[in-house]
Amino acid sequence: MADGPAILQSPDEVLSTLGRDGKRKWLYPVESKGRFLTWRRYAGVLLVAVYLALPIVHVGGKPAMLLDLVHREFALFGAVFYPTDTLLLMLMLIAVMVAVMLFTALLGRVWCGWACPQTVYLEFVFRPVERLIEGKEHVRKRRDEGPLTLDKAWRKTVKWSIFMVVSLLLAHTFVAYFVGWEALMAWMQAPPTEHWGFFVVMAITTGLILFDFGIFREQMCTIACPYARMQSIMLDEDSTIVSYDTGRGEPRSKRSKKQLRMEEEGLVPQEGDCIDCFACVRTCPTGIDIRDGLQMECVACTQCIDACDHIMDNIGKPRGLIRYTSERELDGKKTRLVRPRTLIYSAALIFVLSAFSVVITQRSDYDINIGRAVGEPYAELGDGRIANRLRFRVRNQTAQPASFSVRAASGTPVELRPVEALPITLDGGEMRRVEIWVMTPASAFESDAMPVTFLLEFSDGQVLERSFTLLGPSIR
Ligand code: SF4
Ligand code: SF4
Repeated sequence: MADGPAILQSPDEVLSTLGRDGKRKWLYPVESKGRFLTWRRYAGVLLVAVYLALPIVHVGGKPAMLLDLVHREFALFGAVFYPTDTLLLMLMLIAVMVAVMLFTALLGRVWCGWACPQTVYLEFVFRPVERLIEGKEHVRKRRDEGPLTLDKAWRKTVKWSIFMVVSLLLAHTFVAYFVGWEALMAWMQAPPTEHWGFFVVMAITTGLILFDFGIFREQMCTIACPYARMQSIMLDEDSTIVSYDTGRGEPRSKRSKKQLRMEEEGLVPQEGDCIDCFACVRTCPTGIDIRDGLQMECVACTQCIDACDHIMDNIGKPRGLIRYTSERELDGKKTRLVRPRTLIYSAALIFVLSAFSVVITQRSDYDINIGRAVGEPYAELGDGRIANRLRFRVRNQTAQPASFSVRAASGTPVELRPVEALPITLDGGEMRRVEIWVMTPASAFESDAMPVTFLLEFSDGQVLERSFTLLGPSIR
């Protein structure tokens, strides 16, 4: 374990990163090598690749993930949703929320420690760059507290320059989730004067990312993240947590290998396995002491497990003084997977996913809406006929282009005069509004309203019926 400043918390401290003078306490968490760090690193590299690829890789003609707010279009692995899919989107959102609750009830904050972009980019991109340029934690702390020297200046300049480049890359990826990679590339190749909006959004996003990973860091998890704030209601005594085994570790005390050997030989009274070395505290990226019990600041990053396992190996004790466990298991009982809250969450998730499946299988390839065009409700023509001007809004909800035309159901005494020539071709996902005059003999109106059925014929052979009520003068 590398040397480093002991990050001690006095009992009257409220936040692990808040000093007595009210100022932020800058953390220098020591990297603890071990099996969890290795696995998290593999997972981190994979996730960075996924986060970067999602807006670029196309599935079914659309980015694997697109949240196009301007065109109100949401693409997810080939499925495209539009504002008319409110019910589907709502069900999807509820399913995600219930899944998060179930996942958290079972596995605790595994997401935070292993997969959250905040953790992944900070621990596996920004901190490694910082260590590479500025050295180990105790060296960095000493330099930061010292005067400005040439050595300090060049290291800070190089580090922040690399941070800036990485933040720019992340900002472009982030914006690509909302506008698509193609639009982003086009904007990037044009001069800023042609896309001031994009330029400003990119500058602000880059600045925020730089601030977050360069300065704000663990504060995002400890004071800003809403998911972290909700942990206390989602976790129970059976949830998986990273925890210190108090029963095994206490009474803790600093002692040498020789003293530990004497304990084993029964020459002195046996104490707990914790040798109070503070390795678990020095490595914690949120600055807490896991031995104080489960805390909201713990992001379950497993660094204290690796740190303590290393110490246990050194002093010849079994690993796992700090480990993945549950409060129930620490009390000597068996962790229960099946319990009221996991049953309720599972049932709710199955129900919502079933509803989602039903709604999506009944979803039409084409969304059609008929309305009255702006202006008079109807016009009386010179030849005695009544004209209703209707507006057909048609969206192609498939990924392939399709054309359509409109006619009235046979036997209906109407003539259609589209304002623009039919058929009209729509690209995948495209929506068009088409105005059509509908002419009817005045004698056809038995009252001042006449229901008419329209047939929309699409190039893939689908014929969809929609009814609309025409207005006219009553002949009675
Ligand atoms: S690393 Fe392990 S032995 Fe050292 S203080 Fe933490 S719990 Fe105790
Ligand atoms: S207490 Fe351990 S698991 Fe929790 S944030 Fe600190 S190092 Fe990570």
